[in-house]
Amino acid sequence: MAEYTECEAVVLRRADYRESSRMVTLFARSHGRISAAAKGAMRPKSTLKAATELFFQGSFLLSQSRGRYVIASAQARKPHLELSADLEKLACAVYLRDFCEAVLTEGEAQDELYELLCVCLDALCREESDPRSVRLFFEVRAMELLGFQPEMAACAECGGSLEGEAWLSAAAGGLVCPRCLEKLGDGKLLLGGTVAMLRRMQTWDAARLSVLRSHETIERNLAQAWTPYLAYYLERNFRLEGFLDKLSAFAAKTESSVGRSVENRGELPCKSTKNGI
Ligand SMILES: [Zn+2]
Repeated sequence: MAEYTECEAVVLRRADYRESSRMVTLFARSHGRISAAAKGAMRPKSTLKAATELFFQGSFLLSQSRGRYVIASAQARKPHLELSADLEKLACAVYLRDFCEAVLTEGEAQDELYELLCVCLDALCREESDPRSVRLFFEVRAMELLGFQPEMAACAECGGSLEGEAWLSAAAGGLVCPRCLEKLGDGKLLLGGTVAMLRRMQTWDAARLSVLRSHETIERNLAQAWTPYLAYYLERNFRLEGFLDKLSAFAAKTESSVGRSVENRGELPCKSTKNGI
């Protein structure tokens, strides 16, 4: 006898199977990551087709039998359709999805991370949003939720005050002053503007994200110092299965695209295809 569960969720991944059905990976409030079948979703009149598109957010009614979920019905809350119209935003959303998948465990609730993903998808859908700022906001807040927030207010080693540029040290767990950098032998230079941007992201209101604009120098500096910091903590604590390659590729693309004109935005920071992304 099937049991029914109602939950709010975002579609992280979907793949067609058999003639007319789909399998989806959902990130669900109170449930975490779950897989579910959407039988007949590809039939012409099925309401489940739209509900199983990438980044659709809605309320799902799931039947559960012998440990398997089947989507009985779904109601849209936010379909996030705007993402498919902008390749740079879609690439950013795919990166956020990959980040979530890398740290999620099947069936284990991660409600704060779920909320963060929803907030960031909403922000990306706003016409004036800057995907680079949304990505950084997500990374900073996700690291905080995962317990890896770097110490940014003062030197993580000696507690001394920091002004302007500082060095980000994975070993120290945050910014360090020049004296501690020499002692530790570990740290990558963060320019004053990058430090200010990262600090801002720690407390910034997501509803006002569209007023923040990253720029070339900050992006290049983040790729050199912030991305390795993320990799260091994520690698030590999760089974990432290829995510670090994507993280490096994303940072490298961001860095190499710095200074290019906006006409080149069709080149994705990470690969995506219509099916199976
Ligand atoms: Zn110090």
